Amino acid sequence: MSNYEIFENFDTRNISSVKIGGIIKYFYVVNNIQGIKEVFKIIKNKNYDYYVIGGCSKILFPDIFMRECLVKLNIDVLQETKKYVRVGAGTSLKKLAAFMASKGYKGFSGLISIPGSVGGAICNNAGAFGDEISTYLSYVKVFENGKIKILSRDQLDFSYRSSSFKQKKAIILEAYFAKIKGNKEEILVRAKANAEMRAKTQPINAFTLGSTFKNKDEIKIAKILDELSLKGFAQNGLKISEIHANFILNVTNSTQKNFLNILVILRTLVYNKLKYLPDLEIIILRW
Ligand SMILES: Cc1cc2nc3c(=O)[nH]c(=O)nc-3n(C[C@H](O)[C@H](O)[C@H](O)COP(=O)(O)OP(=O)(O)OC[C@H]3O[C@@H](n4cnc5c(N)ncnc54)[C@H](O)[C@@H]3O)c2cc1C
Repeated sequence: MSNYEIFENFDTRNISSVKIGGIIKYFYVVNNIQGIKEVFKIIKNKNYDYYVIGGCSKILFPDIFMRECLVKLNIDVLQETKKYVRVGAGTSLKKLAAFMASKGYKGFSGLISIPGSVGGAICNNAGAFGDEISTYLSYVKVFENGKIKILSRDQLDFSYRSSSFKQKKAIILEAYFAKIKGNKEEILVRAKANAEMRAKTQPINAFTLGSTFKNKDEIKIAKILDELSLKGFAQNGLKISEIHANFILNVTNSTQKNFLNILVILRTLVYNKLKYLPDLEIIILRW
């Protein structure tokens, strides 16, 4: 496998989990640590404006890109060492969670069917059913300002669906998780139950970015949107899921412009009801 691949004039709808996006001039897919060094040498030399992606399950791409390139982390490693489980930023979170559960390690049964990569999950501090990816993370290997560095968990400012990677330019290359043994049978039962619950309560096969807005304390946004009778509301190719009111689905070739319009409507309706403007959980990438 080459260290990286490059695709020119790439249609980002092909990688977007909501199938919305425009054409990006350069799309780099990085397969290993040498690859990131080589790609960033080019980016630095050409002074490209870039954005780092994983599985694109949380990013709303623009209809027209003005920036030059996207860099996808595709480093796929899953290895158990004496003390840690070492995993690549591009490894799927589902694969990591299934591995941890199969070994009877704690903390992953809630993450078992969240789409996307380990790098994206760490950046977003992804979580579900009481588990969060940050809980048993020990440290990460990152690429920052041309150098490989190690950052420990307490340097990463984790909070609800957030981490320091939201602000930082550091790129996650690998993550190291602590191996904390639990009751393997219980862990596997819980993982199966969580996966079944998700399949029942979320439109898992639709074109979507998952939850659109963050919950806040006791305010559960899906419940509020449901109370506002928004399930099934449709406009310009987008539709609020009939089974989860915080999920917006792309049903017929919609655009970021339409998505932004529907966000304004939803935020206004929530504000009128609660005098509270919900924060976005999805990431809107402007050109
Ligand atoms: C059907 C569905 C259900 C979902 N359910 C949940 C859920 O239950 N809980 C939950 O938390 N999320 C959920 N999500 C959202 C999403 O799957 C997670 O947030 C996921 O962890 C994002 O990973 P990704 O690889 O797709 O990241 P992306 O969407 O590609 O990127 C997300 C962010 O991470 C950054 N990033 C990506 N890779 C790196 C890297 N290597 N280094 C530094 N920054 C990086 C990007 O710049 C971006 O800011 C759901 C999404 C869908 C579509």
